[in-house]
Amino acid sequence: MIFPIDIHTHKLPAEAGQAIVSCQPHTFAPLQDEWYSVGVHPWYADECEWQTDSFRCSFEEMVSHPRVLAVGEVGIDHLSRVSLDCQTDIFRYQAGVAEAVCKPLVIHAVKAQAELIQLKRELKPRVPWIIHGFRGKVQLAQDLVRHGLYLSFGARYQEETLRQIPLDRLFLETDESEVSIASLYEEAARLRGLSCSELREAVSCNIHRVFFGH
Ligand SMILES: [Zn+2]
Repeated sequence: MIFPIDIHTHKLPAEAGQAIVSCQPHTFAPLQDEWYSVGVHPWYADECEWQTDSFRCSFEEMVSHPRVLAVGEVGIDHLSRVSLDCQTDIFRYQAGVAEAVCKPLVIHAVKAQAELIQLKRELKPRVPWIIHGFRGKVQLAQDLVRHGLYLSFGARYQEETLRQIPLDRLFLETDESEVSIASLYEEAARLRGLSCSELREAVSCNIHRVFFGH
Protein backbone atom coordinates (compact mmCIF):
# COMPACT_ATOMS: atom_id res chain seq x y z
CA MET A 1 0.00 0.00 0.00
CA ILE A 2 1.25 3.51 -0.83
CA PHE A 3 0.92 6.04 1.97
CA PRO A 4 0.35 9.71 1.22
CA ILE A 5 3.15 12.28 1.57
CA ASP A 6 1.13 15.25 0.25
CA ILE A 7 -1.73 15.88 2.67
CA HIS A 8 -3.79 18.29 0.59
CA THR A 9 -4.30 18.69 -3.14
CA HIS A 10 -7.17 19.08 -5.57
CA LYS A 11 -5.74 16.96 -8.38
CA LEU A 12 -4.83 13.32 -8.67
CA PRO A 13 -1.17 12.77 -7.76
CA ALA A 14 1.48 11.57 -10.26
CA GLU A 15 1.62 8.29 -8.39
CA ALA A 16 -1.66 6.85 -7.07
CA GLY A 17 -1.93 7.05 -3.29
CA GLN A 18 0.77 9.68 -2.87
CA ALA A 19 -1.63 12.47 -1.89
CA ILE A 20 -4.86 13.13 -0.05
CA VAL A 21 -7.19 14.51 -2.70
CA SER A 22 -9.62 17.08 -1.32
CA CYS A 23 -13.17 16.88 -2.71
CA GLN A 24 -16.47 18.64 -2.28
CA PRO A 25 -19.21 16.13 -1.50
CA HIS A 26 -20.76 16.42 -4.99
CA THR A 27 -17.41 15.67 -6.71
CA PHE A 28 -16.47 12.67 -4.58
CA ALA A 29 -16.05 9.61 -6.81
CA PRO A 30 -13.35 7.52 -5.16
CA LEU A 31 -10.77 5.56 -7.16
CA GLN A 32 -9.51 2.39 -5.58
CA ASP A 33 -5.89 3.41 -4.92
CA GLU A 34 -6.30 7.07 -4.02
CA TRP A 35 -6.79 8.73 -0.64
CA TYR A 36 -9.33 11.47 -0.05
CA SER A 37 -10.72 14.10 2.24
CA VAL A 38 -14.31 15.27 1.80
CA GLY A 39 -15.85 18.45 3.10
CA VAL A 40 -17.86 21.55 2.30
CA HIS A 41 -15.50 24.47 1.68
CA PRO A 42 -16.57 27.70 3.44
CA TRP A 43 -16.89 29.51 0.10
CA TYR A 44 -19.78 27.19 -0.79
CA ALA A 45 -21.32 26.93 2.65
CA ASP A 46 -24.48 28.79 1.59
CA GLU A 47 -25.11 26.51 -1.40
CA CYS A 48 -25.12 23.39 0.70
CA GLU A 49 -28.29 21.94 2.20
CA TRP A 50 -26.41 20.52 5.15
CA GLN A 51 -29.44 20.72 7.44
CA THR A 52 -31.39 18.18 5.41
CA ASP A 53 -31.41 14.51 6.37
CA SER A 54 -30.57 13.46 2.84
CA PHE A 55 -27.41 15.59 2.74
CA ARG A 56 -26.31 14.43 6.18
CA CYS A 57 -26.93 10.84 5.41
CA SER A 58 -24.90 10.84 2.20
CA PHE A 59 -22.14 13.05 3.63
CA GLU A 60 -21.71 10.84 6.66
CA GLU A 61 -21.54 7.80 4.44
CA MET A 62 -18.87 9.44 2.23
CA VAL A 63 -16.61 10.40 5.10
CA SER A 64 -16.90 6.89 6.50
CA HIS A 65 -15.45 5.47 3.27
CA PRO A 66 -12.19 3.60 4.04
CA ARG A 67 -10.20 5.67 1.49
CA VAL A 68 -11.32 8.93 3.12
CA LEU A 69 -8.69 9.94 5.67
CA ALA A 70 -10.07 13.29 6.81
CA VAL A 71 -13.03 15.64 6.83
CA GLY A 72 -12.26 18.81 4.86
CA GLU A 73 -11.50 21.15 3.68
CA VAL A 74 -13.84 22.95 6.01
CA GLY A 75 -13.12 26.40 7.32
CA ILE A 76 -13.65 30.01 8.20
CA ASP A 77 -12.71 32.67 5.66
CA HIS A 78 -13.15 36.34 6.47
CA LEU A 79 -12.72 37.31 2.82
CA SER A 80 -15.54 35.09 1.60
CA ARG A 81 -18.92 36.50 0.48
CA VAL A 82 -20.64 33.85 2.62
CA SER A 83 -21.74 35.13 6.04
CA LEU A 84 -19.62 34.14 9.02
CA ASP A 85 -22.65 32.70 10.79
CA CYS A 86 -23.32 30.40 7.89
CA GLN A 87 -19.67 29.37 7.68
CA THR A 88 -19.51 28.75 11.40
CA ASP A 89 -22.70 26.65 11.49
CA ILE A 90 -21.45 24.31 8.81
CA PHE A 91 -18.00 24.21 10.39
CA ARG A 92 -19.52 23.04 13.66
CA TYR A 93 -21.58 20.41 11.89
CA GLN A 94 -18.57 19.03 10.01
CA ALA A 95 -16.34 19.13 13.09
CA GLY A 96 -19.01 17.01 14.81
CA VAL A 97 -19.00 14.52 11.94
CA ALA A 98 -15.18 14.30 12.13
CA GLU A 99 -15.52 13.41 15.80
CA ALA A 100 -18.20 10.83 15.08
CA VAL A 101 -16.14 9.05 12.40
CA CYS A 102 -12.90 9.67 14.29
CA LYS A 103 -11.02 11.30 11.41
CA PRO A 104 -8.99 14.53 11.47
CA LEU A 105 -10.31 17.87 10.26
CA VAL A 106 -8.48 19.75 7.46
CA ILE A 107 -9.11 23.47 7.82
CA HIS A 108 -8.97 26.45 5.46
CA ALA A 109 -8.52 29.56 7.60
CA VAL A 110 -8.28 33.14 6.35
CA LYS A 111 -7.89 35.77 9.08
CA ALA A 112 -9.77 33.38 11.33
CA GLN A 113 -7.24 32.14 13.86
CA ALA A 114 -9.03 33.68 16.82
CA GLU A 115 -12.33 32.01 15.87
CA LEU A 116 -10.61 28.69 15.35
CA ILE A 117 -8.99 28.74 18.74
CA GLN A 118 -12.36 29.70 20.22
CA LEU A 119 -14.13 26.86 18.38
CA LYS A 120 -11.46 24.40 19.47
CA ARG A 121 -11.85 25.48 23.10
CA GLU A 122 -15.59 25.12 22.87
CA LEU A 123 -15.83 21.87 20.91
CA LYS A 124 -12.85 20.14 22.57
CA PRO A 125 -12.24 17.78 19.65
CA ARG A 126 -10.45 14.48 20.19
CA VAL A 127 -9.46 14.28 16.53
CA PRO A 128 -6.54 16.39 15.25
CA TRP A 129 -7.26 19.71 13.57
CA ILE A 130 -4.89 20.72 10.77
CA ILE A 131 -4.68 24.19 9.23
CA HIS A 132 -3.74 23.73 5.61
CA GLY A 133 -1.87 26.23 3.43
CA PHE A 134 -0.44 27.98 6.47
CA ARG A 135 1.31 31.26 5.62
CA GLY A 136 1.35 33.01 8.99
CA LYS A 137 4.25 34.28 11.03
CA VAL A 138 6.13 32.40 13.74
CA GLN A 139 4.20 33.94 16.64
CA LEU A 140 0.84 32.96 15.24
CA ALA A 141 2.09 29.47 14.39
CA GLN A 142 3.34 28.99 17.93
CA ASP A 143 0.02 30.14 19.30
CA LEU A 144 -1.88 27.63 17.18
CA VAL A 145 0.55 24.83 18.03
CA ARG A 146 0.12 25.62 21.71
CA HIS A 147 -3.61 25.13 21.23
CA GLY A 148 -2.93 21.71 19.79
CA LEU A 149 -3.29 22.49 16.08
CA TYR A 150 -1.17 21.03 13.28
CA LEU A 151 0.08 23.15 10.37
CA SER A 152 0.49 22.21 6.72
CA PHE A 153 2.71 24.23 4.37
CA GLY A 154 2.21 24.58 0.63
CA ALA A 155 4.17 26.34 -2.10
CA ARG A 156 4.10 29.73 -0.33
CA TYR A 157 4.90 30.28 3.33
CA GLN A 158 7.08 32.25 5.74
CA GLU A 159 10.40 30.45 5.86
CA GLU A 160 11.05 31.38 9.47
CA THR A 161 7.77 29.76 10.50
CA LEU A 162 8.59 26.49 8.80
CA ARG A 163 12.02 26.56 10.47
CA GLN A 164 10.63 27.04 13.94
CA ILE A 165 7.49 25.01 14.42
CA PRO A 166 7.87 21.64 16.17
CA LEU A 167 8.63 18.91 13.66
CA ASP A 168 5.87 16.72 15.04
CA ARG A 169 3.21 19.31 13.99
CA LEU A 170 4.37 19.76 10.41
CA PHE A 171 2.83 18.62 7.11
CA LEU A 172 3.47 19.52 3.47
CA GLU A 173 0.98 19.88 0.63
CA THR A 174 0.78 20.97 -2.99
CA ASP A 175 -2.86 22.26 -2.86
CA GLU A 176 -3.60 24.14 -6.12
CA SER A 177 0.04 24.81 -7.05
CA GLU A 178 1.97 23.22 -9.91
CA VAL A 179 5.11 22.51 -7.86
CA SER A 180 5.92 18.89 -7.10
CA ILE A 181 5.63 17.54 -3.59
CA ALA A 182 9.25 16.33 -3.88
CA SER A 183 10.51 19.87 -4.40
CA LEU A 184 8.51 21.07 -1.38
CA TYR A 185 10.19 18.39 0.75
CA GLU A 186 13.62 19.38 -0.59
CA GLU A 187 13.10 23.03 0.22
CA ALA A 188 11.64 22.32 3.67
CA ALA A 189 14.50 19.92 4.47
CA ARG A 190 17.02 22.60 3.52
CA LEU A 191 15.30 25.15 5.78
CA ARG A 192 15.20 22.72 8.70
CA GLY A 193 18.81 21.63 8.17
CA LEU A 194 17.77 18.01 7.64
CA SER A 195 18.37 15.56 4.84
CA CYS A 196 15.41 14.92 2.60
CA SER A 197 15.02 11.40 3.94
CA GLU A 198 15.11 12.58 7.56
CA LEU A 199 12.33 15.07 6.85
CA ARG A 200 10.35 12.48 4.88
CA GLU A 201 10.59 10.13 7.81
CA ALA A 202 9.47 12.73 10.36
CA VAL A 203 6.49 13.89 8.29
CA SER A 204 5.53 10.29 7.45
CA CYS A 205 5.49 9.59 11.14
CA ASN A 206 3.06 12.50 11.62
CA ILE A 207 0.91 11.25 8.73
CA HIS A 208 0.69 7.76 10.23
CA ARG A 209 -0.17 9.07 13.65
CA VAL A 210 -2.73 11.67 12.55
CA PHE A 211 -4.38 10.07 9.51
CA PHE A 212 -3.97 6.36 10.23
CA GLY A 213 -4.12 6.44 14.02
CA HIS A 214 -0.82 4.67 14.71
ZN1 LIG B 1 -7.19 23.38 -1.08
